[in-house]
Amino acid sequence: MKKHTKYIHAGAHPDPSTGAIMTPIYQTSTYVQEAPGVHKGFEYARSQNPTRQALEEALAVIEEGKYGLAFSSGVAATDAVIKLLKPGDEVIAGNDMYGGTYRLFSKVFAKFGIVFHYIDLSNLDQIEKYINPNTKLIWVETPTNPLMNIADISAIASITKKHQLILCVDNTFASPALQNPLSLGADIVMHSATKYLSGHSDVIQGALVMKDKALRDELYFIQKSCGAVPGPMDCFLVLRGIKTLGIRMERHSQNGEKIAHFLKAHPAVKQVYWPGFVEHPGHAIAKKQMKDFGGMISFELKQDTIEAARTLLSNTKLFSLAESLGGVESLINHPASMTHASIPRDERIKNGLSDTLIRLSVGIEDADDLIEDLRHAIELAEQVKK
Ligand SMILES: *Cc1c(COP(=O)(O)O)cnc(C)c1O
Repeated sequence: MKKHTKYIHAGAHPDPSTGAIMTPIYQTSTYVQEAPGVHKGFEYARSQNPTRQALEEALAVIEEGKYGLAFSSGVAATDAVIKLLKPGDEVIAGNDMYGGTYRLFSKVFAKFGIVFHYIDLSNLDQIEKYINPNTKLIWVETPTNPLMNIADISAIASITKKHQLILCVDNTFASPALQNPLSLGADIVMHSATKYLSGHSDVIQGALVMKDKALRDELYFIQKSCGAVPGPMDCFLVLRGIKTLGIRMERHSQNGEKIAHFLKAHPAVKQVYWPGFVEHPGHAIAKKQMKDFGGMISFELKQDTIEAARTLLSNTKLFSLAESLGGVESLINHPASMTHASIPRDERIKNGLSDTLIRLSVGIEDADDLIEDLRHAIELAEQVKK
């Protein structure tokens, strides 16, 4: 099955009781048994729900895996992966990643004795140096949030295979339409389904996809034991979102490209972070492992002051000032005070995330309107007194 066909048909089966073409929202907590232990495979909805099962099947298909597991949020999915580990185990993660992942690792799991090393994952020798007998997992986000750094998934997969480590890739920014880490050698793909998978800014959800049955069974055990499962209505919304994922990502990428070039050519803009530029340090790898470059862009103004950045952030009309990303509508965000405020300032600055960085989630509106919106807000920012 080809890509766009998969998005429509993955996990979709006519409802056995009515023939309904759309998967029903099975809003139930439990299932009636004929006799103790005699049932149709459904006992209690934390363990099994037909709407969730349809979604989990769809996730596996679109991410080129065998098994999908849906969670109540992206961080709940990440939480489940780290619960594969035990005290003393070590994790190597990127030094530029989603602030909530950093917070979960450093503020929650570190106190249970799991050790995290945050390093530059584009440096493969450095990764090897951090591996010791306690190392169990490498956590990769690519492209990274918000600096759009790129890690080479297949190169890191050869390192994790050699040392028998688990490789988990947070594929939220690319989505399965642009990048499939399992086919590049990763063991687990993680998603904040809140973002591109659902695509309409109306649900919080997370997902894991894998190929290995034993790994799936372990993660399913954690899913049902810890209980961070999504409700059936939310599963329905993500199933519906997936149907248009392919065409949405095409449009996000086209608009992203136009806006990245507009910003780069603008005399008031200092730097644009977007992996589609040939001079981006990760461009060659991005081109190799991604089908397109997506709709996420970060940038800084030449007038590198908080006041100028704040003026821009408060004066766009089509780009709404909000956390999150991946919806059909465009969003603008200030990572230092919003999505990445949970990272200590020193740590943030050291890794290149400045106080004045602005992040865009480019939606699927008409690019010309989005460009005019940015042009106007940049003009106002330029008028801020130096
Ligand atoms: C939003 C996000 C998460 C966390 O997902 P939630 O659904 O908000 O819990 C993890 N990784 C990345 C890259 C994200 O953008």
